[in-house]
Amino acid sequence: MKTSIIGYPRIGGLRELKFASEKYFRREITQEELESEARKIRLYNLNIQKDSGIDLIPSNDFSYYDGVLDTAFLFGAVPARYTELGLSELDTYFAAARGYQGEKGDVKALAMKKWYNTNYHYMVPEIDDDTQIRLSGSKPFDLFTEALENGVKTRPVIVGAYTFLKLARYKGEKKAADFAAQTAKAYADLLDRFAGLGAEWVQFDEPSLVKDMTAEDIKLFVSLYEKILPGKKSVKVLLQTYFGDVRDCYKEICALDVDGIGLDFTEGRKTFDLVFNNGFPKGKVLFAGVVNGKNIWRNDYAKTCLTIEGIKDKASEIVISTSCSLLHVPCTLRNETKLPDNIRKHFAYAEEKLTELAEIRKIVESEHPRETSEYQRSVSLHTEVRSGTNEAVREKVAKLTDKDLVRLPEFAERERIQKERFGLPLFPTTTIGSFPQTAEVKKTRKAFRSGEISAEEYDRFIEKKIADCVALQEKIGLDVLVHGEFERNDMVEYFGECLDGYIFTEKAWVQSYGTRCVKPPVIWGDISRAKPMTVRWAKYAQSLTKKPMKGMLTGPVTILNWSFPREDISLKESAFQIALAIREEVLDLEANGISVIQVDEAALREKLPLRRSDWREDYLDWAIPAFRYVHSGVRPETQIHTHMCYSEFADIIRDIDDMDADVITFEASRSDLAILDVLRENNFRTEVGPGVYDIHSPRIPSKDEIKTAIGKMLGRIPASKLWVNPDCGLKTRGIEETVPSLENLVAAAREARNENS
Ligand code: GLN
Ligand code: ZN
Repeated sequence: MKTSIIGYPRIGGLRELKFASEKYFRREITQEELESEARKIRLYNLNIQKDSGIDLIPSNDFSYYDGVLDTAFLFGAVPARYTELGLSELDTYFAAARGYQGEKGDVKALAMKKWYNTNYHYMVPEIDDDTQIRLSGSKPFDLFTEALENGVKTRPVIVGAYTFLKLARYKGEKKAADFAAQTAKAYADLLDRFAGLGAEWVQFDEPSLVKDMTAEDIKLFVSLYEKILPGKKSVKVLLQTYFGDVRDCYKEICALDVDGIGLDFTEGRKTFDLVFNNGFPKGKVLFAGVVNGKNIWRNDYAKTCLTIEGIKDKASEIVISTSCSLLHVPCTLRNETKLPDNIRKHFAYAEEKLTELAEIRKIVESEHPRETSEYQRSVSLHTEVRSGTNEAVREKVAKLTDKDLVRLPEFAERERIQKERFGLPLFPTTTIGSFPQTAEVKKTRKAFRSGEISAEEYDRFIEKKIADCVALQEKIGLDVLVHGEFERNDMVEYFGECLDGYIFTEKAWVQSYGTRCVKPPVIWGDISRAKPMTVRWAKYAQSLTKKPMKGMLTGPVTILNWSFPREDISLKESAFQIALAIREEVLDLEANGISVIQVDEAALREKLPLRRSDWREDYLDWAIPAFRYVHSGVRPETQIHTHMCYSEFADIIRDIDDMDADVITFEASRSDLAILDVLRENNFRTEVGPGVYDIHSPRIPSKDEIKTAIGKMLGRIPASKLWVNPDCGLKTRGIEETVPSLENLVAAAREARNENS
């Protein structure tokens, strides 16, 4: 058996590529200097794979920004507005990635979208009616040659034709199928070039095959490959899938003239059954994704061995591989200096996963796999009782019944009680929570963290910020106030730091998009609330005003989705543990006189399964109840808000209503208010604040513009249910634009109020 991986992280163990790129953007280094840094990373990655015992090493998994964008450039699918700037090749590429504003012109970047169910984002290729798709770039060939010159014959990785056409946005009349012939030709030409260079394998990444596929999709996929594959000559083609199973097209894949098929045995719920029940085509190599490319835990060799043993007789040749590219995990544990040994030994980042692949190969090839020391070490690691078990939490979660997940009295009755209690005007105004995190705020937090100023000094600073923020909101005339979230660095990290069961790493950076990386906290043990997390600030803020002060929390699903989750208990169980902790905070806020509490679920949609048929059972059936558990214990007169950062919830609208919040605010300003029709059609009962202006831009919306937005909303939402607010938190905005924007918002709401009462 051989070992391989689908791709390796390219930012560098200490984010070298990020820093070099940003310097290049600021013109502090030259293109040559950036290229040299990039080459260093590539060669390091090449050598570490070789040294760890990886047999088949990929290339072209490197990218200056994003692999889909690379593919668009490779095949000439680049909108003219970028090429016409007359910049260098690299700068044209960066213009498409990040936008360009300078002496040569002013263009926005391509759209960016979430990469399947990960927190990585890709650039959406734009194709219009006269786009000519043809092989025009040279990057994959250059990188193949570079690796060859360094002694390794790699397997170049390219986004596959089907996935590429599915991800593109079509600006004209033509659709994906209209580009099938030229796309297939371009890919065939690519294979031809690689044959000439002496490549043995080429890998086509086709994650779109794990999504629900229509008959038309399958037809497009098959027709593409029937045209591409005859051109492959001496090159072997690996059709690589990941992020799920290929249940809709397994038969068709097996029938293609490809030489290898890559399947995900980790996230693909049906992958094992597909292979076990249907067999695997003779003469093809099965690249078995058994090492999780999305999480940071050590592989459970006992489980992996069972998987490999179960399919061994089905395929004539198996390559042991990762479930997806290692892009989604941090580079190396080497730079983690503070993890205690008993925890560290459970971790495997990209580099450590390479070793795991080699160990798995050794185990399955040995005569008595279960007697190998590697196997036994893994078994004891995975059976040992981990620290961080909290019996009380486990028991509480185990004992939950349906009754605990329902808030009473039901919505309409609460709405009546709350209208009476708060006596808010029509179209109440509020904000989403954070106020500008100025340089001063960040600097002071840093000073506190490094011990330069004392906790008392820091607390006094935060109090001052809160007092100013409350005074400002009163002056502007908002109806429901917030404290401003000055004490928070990040909406998940802040809570993670206050909860028992979380671990923080130093260097576990993962690319989110371009040069932006995130460092998700790790859920290690059972989650519990060590102490009140927000009560002190909420109470202080409320003491400064007679208006209702919103308590601000992050919800359990968002906290879970933006962390590395455990694998030794289910996501559902973790979600309920976090929900229990947040619930305690909610009740504590209520007991301390906070009458409105917002529980943000910014990332609710993030981990929605890729297949619609899995939505309920795998996700919504526990995610929505976990949210309900957070607030089911409050009194009828306490008002629960939630917030989501997007408006794409037409397809889960019932579930959103089922969260049973009293008010929901969300992003609507950039999505032409289409969601409002959906709300009306579904008799959405939760009160709504569809953001009336876009906080992602420094622009100040005029009063009239906001009034127009309110007017459009009123056509679709009963006046008694409409709130007026920006579409997200103001943390990234400057105070200069925030004040006039909110003043205009309040003025617009007042006018609308007068006209409608
Ligand atoms: N309450 C948070 C804030 O205002 C919400 C952030 C978010 O939705 N991403 O910053
Ligand atoms: Zn938001």
